[in-house]
This record gives sequence, C-alpha cells and structure tokens, in this order.
Amino acid sequence: MAFVIIFGPMKSGKSLELISRVAPYEFAHDRVLYVQPIANTRDEGVWSRGGLKVRAVKVESLNDITATFDVIGIDEINMFPPDDVVVINKWLEKGKNVYISGLDLDYKAEMPEICRRILSLKPDEVVFKKAVCDVCRIFDARFTQIIHDGEELLGGIPSIVPEDGTFEYQARCRQCYKRAKI
Ligand SMILES: [Zn+2]
Repeated sequence: MAFVIIFGPMKSGKSLELISRVAPYEFAHDRVLYVQPIANTRDEGVWSRGGLKVRAVKVESLNDITATFDVIGIDEINMFPPDDVVVINKWLEKGKNVYISGLDLDYKAEMPEICRRILSLKPDEVVFKKAVCDVCRIFDARFTQIIHDGEELLGGIPSIVPEDGTFEYQARCRQCYKRAKI
C-alpha cells in the first residue's frame, strides 16, 4: 500500500513524477487508473506531458469514479471539491494505492482546502517539486505567480484562471515571488 502526494508550482514536472510513480504497477498487472479534473481544458482525453502519454478519466468529482482499480493516480488535485477527501480516505481504508499531484499553493501562496485536508490523512511521503524560476532562471522556484498585462496579480481573481493568453502562469523562486500577504 502506498499513499504519496506530489506538490509543486506550475511547470515543476508534477504530472511526470506522478506517471513515473504509478506506471510501474502496470507491469505488475495491477489495475491502474489515471484521473484528471474535467475543469482542465488544456488536454483532451489523453494526458501528455514531457513526451509521456497516458489515458486519463476526466471527472468533476472523485465520487464519479465507477471503475475498479488497485492503483489510482490523480492529477491536479487542487481543482477537485474539498469533500472529495472523504472518497480518498475510503480508498485508503480499502488498501488502494493512491498517488496524487497538484499545486500545493495558489497564486496567493494559499493552500487549497482539499490539499490541507489530504495532508491530514497522513501520506507516506510528500514530494515537493521545484521549477526553474521564470524571472532569474534559477532552478529553485516553489511558488506560482499569475501575470496580467505584465503585472503580478496579488488578488481579486479566482485561484485558477483560463490559460488563454490573458493570464500567464509563472514559476518563481522565493526572491522573485511577489507576495500579497502572509
Ligand atoms: Zn527567481
């Protein structure tokens, strides 16, 4: 049994890490299921990052999952409803292997409720990924900044905005990240 969380900012290779942790189970002939939120409009049906492709089920809530599985890999957990933590707990109690990735902090450096509640389920391991800072190019970015018209946005928009070019997501290091408040 394994319960692993992979957290990190945008562009930190979280999905790649998730797939690399889950994929070996397929060789063990375990039933593997990859899940993404339906709200994710970037990819259609197939989930492809860094040259890897796996087929993912898209759901609004983890409650909607009907397939049986031994191992589940959930991407973008921050986009699921907070109460989905109840479903995850049930899977853990049944002995399922659960791997989860997502943004641990929104652009205001606040932890989404579902992420806080998942940590209270006591994972075996929490992996904190880093990205290359989009400002200074140092490989130590741990925050996500949203840019609009060349300015850092510090509030007044939802945690997740469309990636349509109006808003830009950047990975930033501690020195380059502009924080609204602690
Ligand atoms: Zn930087």
